[in-house]
Amino acid sequence: MSLSCFDLGERMLSVDEALDAILGFAAASPPAHETLPLAALRGRVLSEDVTSPVNVPQNTNAAMDGIALAWPVGQQDQEQGQRQGQGRGREQGQEHHPLELPEPWTLVGESLAGHGYRDKVPEHAAVSITTGAPMPPGTDTVIMSEQLEEAPPEAGRERVRVTRPETVRVGQHVRQAGEDVPRGTVALTAGTRLAAEHLGLLASLGIDRARVSRQLKVAIFSTGDEVTAPGEPLPMDGIFDANRFSLQGLLTALGVEVIDLGILADTSQGMVSALRDAAAAADMVITSGGVSVGQADWIKPALAETGELGFWRIAMRPGRPLAFGRLGSERVPFFGLPGNPVAVMVTFLQFVQPLIRRLQGEHAWQPLRLMARAEESLKSRSGRVDFLRGVYHADESGQLWVRSTGRQGSGILSSMVAANCLIEIAAPCAGIEAGETVTLQPFMHRG
Ligand code: AMP
Ligand code: MG
Repeated sequence: MSLSCFDLGERMLSVDEALDAILGFAAASPPAHETLPLAALRGRVLSEDVTSPVNVPQNTNAAMDGIALAWPVGQQDQEQGQRQGQGRGREQGQEHHPLELPEPWTLVGESLAGHGYRDKVPEHAAVSITTGAPMPPGTDTVIMSEQLEEAPPEAGRERVRVTRPETVRVGQHVRQAGEDVPRGTVALTAGTRLAAEHLGLLASLGIDRARVSRQLKVAIFSTGDEVTAPGEPLPMDGIFDANRFSLQGLLTALGVEVIDLGILADTSQGMVSALRDAAAAADMVITSGGVSVGQADWIKPALAETGELGFWRIAMRPGRPLAFGRLGSERVPFFGLPGNPVAVMVTFLQFVQPLIRRLQGEHAWQPLRLMARAEESLKSRSGRVDFLRGVYHADESGQLWVRSTGRQGSGILSSMVAANCLIEIAAPCAGIEAGETVTLQPFMHRG
C-alpha cells in the first residue's frame, strides 16, 4: 500500500476515512490458506467456492409417513386443469369437484428410509412409505398416514382407504431430488464464515474438509506503569488490566489465535524489542494505552526503529487518538488503541474487526446496522461520530426503541456490560430528540 494514510497528517480524520485507510492494508497482504477437516471448521472463513458434487436430497423422497402411489393415469391432466380453473370457478360460483381416487388402495410393499422399494409400482397400487424414504419407480404422490384407514385385505394384500380424497393433490408431500442443493451448483461461496448450518450443509454434500484462510495470530499487550494483572495485589496507584482480556474475548470471537504478551512498562527500550518480537510472531499487533497526546513518546522512537506509524485523530467519541501502522520487515499491521477500556472496545469493533475480517477473506462483511427510535434525548456533538452504549428492544408492534445506558465516560466499562448495542450518531448530528430515529449496531461479539 502507499502510505497515503500517513500523509493524512494531523488533520482530523472522519471515521470512514480512517476505515478506508486501514482496509487498504488488507489488499496488500493476501491471506494464506489451509485445508481443515469438517470438525475444525467452525468460525473459519472459506477461501474458495464449494460446488456440490451431489444432489441433495439424492433421491426424490417422501416428506411424510404414509403411502406412495402413482396418480391415476389420465387424471393428472384433469387435476391440473381443475386446479388452474379453481379460482375462476369460484368466481363464477361453481362448485369444486374432488377427484375420484380408486378405492381402496392395495399395498404391494414398503419403502423405508435406508431401504427403498426398487420395483415399479403398478397402477392403482401403493407402497407404504416413511419420511425420507425414496419414492419407488412409478409413484409421484404421498398421502399421509393420518388420512388413511384400513380396508379389508384382498388376496393376502393389505389395503387402505383415503379418508379425505378431496384434499389430495398430485405430487403432494414429495421432496424432489436436488431441491435443497442441485448437483454442480455453488452451495457456499468464498468469504463465508462457517457457522453450524454451514457445517451441516457441507456434511450433507458428503464433504469432509474445506479450504479456509489460515488462522490469524494476533499479539496483544497492555502498557502503563499503573496497569496491574488481575490476581496481583493492586498497588496504591494501580488499575487492573481490563483491556487485554476484553481484547482477548473480541479476538477469540473472530476465530483468532491470541498471543498474550502481558503488560509492558512505559519505557521506550522495552517497547522496541516487544514490538519487534511481536511483529515476528504475529500477523497483527494490538496494544492499548500510551497513545494519548503527550504520552506517545515511547511509541514514536520504537516505531521509527521498527516500522511506520501514523497517529490519527479521528472525529469520533470515544476513541481518540488511535495509532496505526506497520511493523518490521514483515510489515505487520499495528494498532495502538487508546487506554480507556470503553474506547478500546469501540475502536476494536469499528476499525480492528473490519481489518481482521478482511484479512480472513470475509470481503463482504459490514456491521449490522438497525434503525430505532430514541426513547429519550441523546447527547452528541456535531463534527464527530458519537458511539453511545445503548439498550434496544422491540415493542409489541415490532418497532425498535433504544435508550442510552446512562453515564458514557470512556472508562466506564460497566456501560458496555449493560448495553446490547452501540448507538451510532452521525457526525453532522448535534443531538437526538426523543422519538427521533437513530442508527444502532447490535453487539454481535457475544455468545
Ligand atoms: P493512556 O491512553 O495510557 O493514557 O490510558 C488512558 C486511561 O486508560 C488511563 O486512565 C489508564 O489508566 C487506563 N488504562 C490504560 N490501560 C489500561 C488497561 N489495560 N486496563 C484498564 N485501564 C487501562
Ligand atoms: Mg498509559
